[in-house]
Amino acid sequence: MSDKSSIKRVLYKVEQLVERGIDKRVRIAVTGLSGAGKTAFITSLMNQLLHIADNDQLPFLRAAKEGRILATKVSSYDELHIPEFKYKQSLDAIFDKKPTWPVSTTGISQAQLDIRYTIKNEWLKKLQKQSQLTVDIIDYPGEWLLDLPLLRLSFKDWSMQCHELLEQSELDSSWREQAVELIYQQPLQDDKIAQVSTEYKDFIRQNFSQQHTYNLLQPGRFILPGELAGAPVLDFFPVLDIDILNSDWSTLSSDSLIRILEKRFNYYKKQIIEPFFKEYFEKVDRQILLVDCLEVLNNGYQNYRNMQFTLSELLKSFHYGHSNWIKRMFSPSIDKLLIAATKADHVPPEQHRELELFLQKMLQGSRNDIQYEGIELETLAISAIKVTEAVMAEHQAQKLMCVKGVELSSGDEVINYPGKIAPHSLSKELWQEQQYDFVDFAIPGNLTSSILPHIRMDKVLQFLIGDKFR
Ligand code: GDP
Repeated sequence: MSDKSSIKRVLYKVEQLVERGIDKRVRIAVTGLSGAGKTAFITSLMNQLLHIADNDQLPFLRAAKEGRILATKVSSYDELHIPEFKYKQSLDAIFDKKPTWPVSTTGISQAQLDIRYTIKNEWLKKLQKQSQLTVDIIDYPGEWLLDLPLLRLSFKDWSMQCHELLEQSELDSSWREQAVELIYQQPLQDDKIAQVSTEYKDFIRQNFSQQHTYNLLQPGRFILPGELAGAPVLDFFPVLDIDILNSDWSTLSSDSLIRILEKRFNYYKKQIIEPFFKEYFEKVDRQILLVDCLEVLNNGYQNYRNMQFTLSELLKSFHYGHSNWIKRMFSPSIDKLLIAATKADHVPPEQHRELELFLQKMLQGSRNDIQYEGIELETLAISAIKVTEAVMAEHQAQKLMCVKGVELSSGDEVINYPGKIAPHSLSKELWQEQQYDFVDFAIPGNLTSSILPHIRMDKVLQFLIGDKFR
């Protein structure tokens, strides 16, 4: 063999090693409770990257600023069982003659982007000028994350937990009254079980949307069933009668209502929750959790406390120290977590910092735990699609920074002063004095550029993928 060809072979080998050495793929999961802004976020994220060549709206994405990101395209992913994120439909809705917000997330979906970039590293550059980063984006409802604790509960434990929560809450208990009339030790026809469980789902859904009581949301698929809508695996409900809960279940026959409900609960855990978390923990590298703080501010103290509780529950998914059960059961690989307050375009720019501080206050305890686990954590106030502009206007005889946009409900242009966001936590009494007035804004019909206007999506991108463009 000639010297030339052996040098060529060595170089080829080195090139292969380099290729493998440079991170080629990053999987980003996007979540948040319903209405947090997941669909708008993914649409904007894809839009910013797909227009990378002529996008001058990304000064904080370093590789883009350095002109090293060359092109992005949508590619097909390997997880064929996961539906595709509807990017084109979302964009069509936004740029329609009569624009509308894209249809919100109801289940899991995925998109994949291939990004070509110029290599920066002096050594790697000698061997290869360009490389490709594959970014997978997975969208799933935050409600599903709330199912994680169920993995460690038996049907009896879960029922007891539901019983205690309902005892403490002031929720309308009409469902409960009819459920205690059932004879749990005897068989019950399937259609009757389906009917009672449908009513249970309606009951927790109503409480979720009207009273923002997130701790009754389990199982998550009862709120957002995704592809499981109507499937019998979701036909179960907790036993709430305390005498039955305290009784011995060991002698119950397998066709009794309790055993049927227990079987379905166990099936749900084994066949739905466990595979979801297995795929999730073992494949996701970076997570973004979106939080609608404006809804919290608009709805007062109790809503604030409920959201704080729910966030701490959601963030339990990221507490996995050495001896933690999550680590024993799965192999989590998340190394970065971004928690973002969405829809920051509702707030005048001078208050964005307060919005971020408000989010940080809500996260307080959980934040320390996560940092301790070694996951890099960042918080930001962002707007995926900015549909307002900041204007100085008169509000209650004062000149104040406000936001101007088209109000969603009336279709009229309005100037809104939403109130002053308190960056620190407020006592129950202080919350009562605080008045907030956030209105929903529509997408204006005059979006001229095909690149969506945003607030801090470049900082989001720098945090999530910036380190991969080496
Ligand atoms: P999802 O349920 O998490 O998928 O939430 P969506 O992305 O569908 O967002 C819910 C609603 O929040 C949208 O229909 C919009 O009204 C609003 N929204 C989301 N993102 C933004 C944003 O960046 N700016 C503004 N002004 N509104 C937003």
